[in-house]
Amino acid sequence: MKVIRHPNTGAAPLRAAFVFLGDTIFPTKSVSSTLIRSIRFMHTTSSHYDIVIVGGRPAGSTLAARLGQAGLRVLLLERATLPSRPPASSPAIYAKTMQMLEDIGADVAVYARNTPRFTRWITEYRDAFTLVNRVPHAFGRDYGYAIDRARFDEALWRTAARRPTVTARQNFAVSDLLWDNGRVVGVRGRTPGCPEETFTADLVVGADGRFSLVARKANAREYLRRDNLPTSLLYAYWKNALPYDEGGPVVYAYGGETGVGFLLMDSADGSLAVVIEGQAAKMEPARGQSAEAFYLEKLRAVPQIWRRLANAERLTDVHGMKRVGNLYREPGGPGWALVGDALHQKDPLDGQGIFDAVFTAKTLAQAIVDWKRNGKSWAEALRWYRREVHAETFPMYIETLRRVRRDLYTAHPDWLIRTVGRWLLDDPEMKRRIGLLLVRGLTPDEAAPSPGLVLRALLRGLRQSAGLRPAFS
Ligand SMILES: Cc1cc2nc3c(=O)[nH]c(=O)nc-3n(C[C@H](O)[C@H](O)[C@H](O)COP(=O)(O)OP(=O)(O)OC[C@H]3O[C@@H](n4cnc5c(N)ncnc54)[C@H](O)[C@@H]3O)c2cc1C
Repeated sequence: MKVIRHPNTGAAPLRAAFVFLGDTIFPTKSVSSTLIRSIRFMHTTSSHYDIVIVGGRPAGSTLAARLGQAGLRVLLLERATLPSRPPASSPAIYAKTMQMLEDIGADVAVYARNTPRFTRWITEYRDAFTLVNRVPHAFGRDYGYAIDRARFDEALWRTAARRPTVTARQNFAVSDLLWDNGRVVGVRGRTPGCPEETFTADLVVGADGRFSLVARKANAREYLRRDNLPTSLLYAYWKNALPYDEGGPVVYAYGGETGVGFLLMDSADGSLAVVIEGQAAKMEPARGQSAEAFYLEKLRAVPQIWRRLANAERLTDVHGMKRVGNLYREPGGPGWALVGDALHQKDPLDGQGIFDAVFTAKTLAQAIVDWKRNGKSWAEALRWYRREVHAETFPMYIETLRRVRRDLYTAHPDWLIRTVGRWLLDDPEMKRRIGLLLVRGLTPDEAAPSPGLVLRALLRGLRQSAGLRPAFS
């Protein structure tokens, strides 16, 4: 538990004005007028930190936890009250992400509480084929979790807030940056209903997601922006849905109508995340139709999916995102830096956003420690950060965009799907490589099939279709 100390005297007079939930501070609604005056006094007074982080979900919390591990004084500010779901996300995470979370002491038993391990991806394409692909063994695990983001984000938040040098405040919206001589030196913002507060810092980090205020206010340059394949998503969580089969939890993908795909993931507490992603133009409800009605209409139209949902109950509203962005932003400048979606965002088709958020946080933490503790200049540390981020994320970014084009923007003739498409995707070595690519065990270059592999896969498929014993397995 942390106590807020009087900024000038160091005393702790305001303990009664706050409730403490875990290590997070919430202003109480009913406090005496004397205390309110005391709080106002404190609120209008600045405090200085090594780092202020704006945004406290995967990128912000894991960055704060790492900087806390290094003993830096961190203020972590989050607009939302946790646990709550982010505006849009229904993710699956894999071993390499879990490994990075272990580094900071995040407990899988907490962030994946009551969440089943899935070991299979099932892909169906119309009635043309069903593919079963096992999650490959990599980084010590052969399964993933379709996590509940509310639970996951709160667990990471608490992991950061437990660090003695990290102060974590929710329900606080940053509204602007503070500048001095062309350099960012802090933030201003407020808790709703309370006076504005300012905080100064050696560095302000925007971990504030796709629509990053820090990026906007710092004029962060965008580059490698790709808007030519826009997609939109809608999703909700359901309960009492029928299982895919008796073989345990799965991630199930269905493709039918060109340009629209479905993803069903067994998630926490017996729930099922049901996502529809498609070309933006095909995801527009008819005039006067709600997003919810559109979502249900799409699900009802696919018997393979509706059979599981017909007697299920929807647990959440329908959420979504229109025209998901694909871009990078300049990683930082004088007194500021970006991390997670604020830095780099891409289509969620391949489910890489959480990995990238946790990875970029790890890398930025190293850059900051090198700058603050190991004598690197900030410019040098930033250049290193940019290089590392690109080396890890850029090949996957290109691969994801390629996949969006292939899976959602290309009309494949039925005969091609039933033959070449199926033969390639059903080849054991192709399956292994695709699996390792998704869990970040192979780079896109390493996973790409050689001409020899393609030939073998086609021959194998041909022989099988002709009823012959497979020549290769
Ligand atoms: C529909 C959809 C499905 C997805 N599916 C997957 C998937 O399967 N797998 C996967 O890995 N990724 C998935 N992603 C991507 C993933 O959700 C993001 O990459 C991830 O949430 C990024 O984490 P972050 O911490 O950078 O940002 P966010 O999770 O967006 O968090 C940013 C935080 O900053 C806070 N904030 C913003 N502005 C302010 C402010 N001014 N003051 C204070 N706080 C502020 C917000 O309240 C928010 O909590 C999906 C995304 C979408 C849209």
